Amino acid sequence: MAPSTRKRPRPSSPGPVDADVTLTNEPSKFNRHPDLWYDDGNVIIATKTQACKVYRGLLSRESPVLNSLFETDVDEKRRTYEGTPVYEVTDSDDDIAAVLKYVCGMERNHKDVATLTFEATLAYFRLGTKYEITRLREEAISRLEMCYPSTLDSFDCPRNPRPITHTIGQDSEVSLLALQNYATLHQLLPAALYACCTLTTTKLISGIEFAFDFMEPPPASKLADFWAKVYNGRARLEESRVDDTLCFLDGAVSNNCERPACEKTIQSSFRQDRALSRPNPNALENVGPTIKKNSGAKPCKSCVTYWISRHVEGRQRVWDKLRDIFDIPEPAAGGDVAPADVS
Ligand SMILES: [Zn+2]
Repeated sequence: MAPSTRKRPRPSSPGPVDADVTLTNEPSKFNRHPDLWYDDGNVIIATKTQACKVYRGLLSRESPVLNSLFETDVDEKRRTYEGTPVYEVTDSDDDIAAVLKYVCGMERNHKDVATLTFEATLAYFRLGTKYEITRLREEAISRLEMCYPSTLDSFDCPRNPRPITHTIGQDSEVSLLALQNYATLHQLLPAALYACCTLTTTKLISGIEFAFDFMEPPPASKLADFWAKVYNGRARLEESRVDDTLCFLDGAVSNNCERPACEKTIQSSFRQDRALSRPNPNALENVGPTIKKNSGAKPCKSCVTYWISRHVEGRQRVWDKLRDIFDIPEPAAGGDVAPADVS
């Protein structure tokens, strides 16, 4: 396996914020963030290597966690830098910068920021959760939902431009993230795990390797759950591709069929098409164009329409089965999902 070339900083361990935010010792060592240093700011948020001078009121308004920290943590011994109190956090430079840019209004009209990087989206989710910045967290979830939709129509018509840039291994990263945050993100799993099933195992392993560069490695049981879902899912999808997606290959013709040759078209054209006949987990592939293209034996229009409609219905059946295929329980009405094996 090729070594990872995309090293990313690993975020802090999840835990109570009180324990994560501590007095700083040597503020003079910090580098000022080039975009996040307001001379009239009144609070400094510092990582190990970088400092941002921003506005306490803005942070307090967005984050009850930070608000509570500012109000209760009035340690007289708190270090200051040029008179401004310094709060040190254990989050990564990039995560904090992404979040502060949002909070300080530099990406206020974030709907206009057509495409967000995957890393920034994850920072929104992680820190939005940690600091209870609801809008930030919802922004991340909504972008992820657009990339891993819950309807076949949305899956077929992805948003353009993409809400999040697509990176190598992202599908496995999102799957693991959703397995670890099941109650909030389970709705991403059908499309994300489906995408994983269409990738080679080598690519998946690389993706997970990337994920561990910046995500807390999941417990072994969660990782085993991921692989079980992918391997079982692949086998189920290969079956479903034959039974549902390609159900029109069974030789049936339209009730209004006008030509005796139609039945032979199935035998001679479609069944000899290697792309259609080899085992393939890509059960949501749209082979409508192939049906039209392979109709060289001149089947009647009625049959072509019939085969395409059966193919369309078959794809929908595959989509509707995804939760079952990946063993993802439907959310309980009016409550969070907390199945014993995934919570
Ligand atoms: Zn026909």
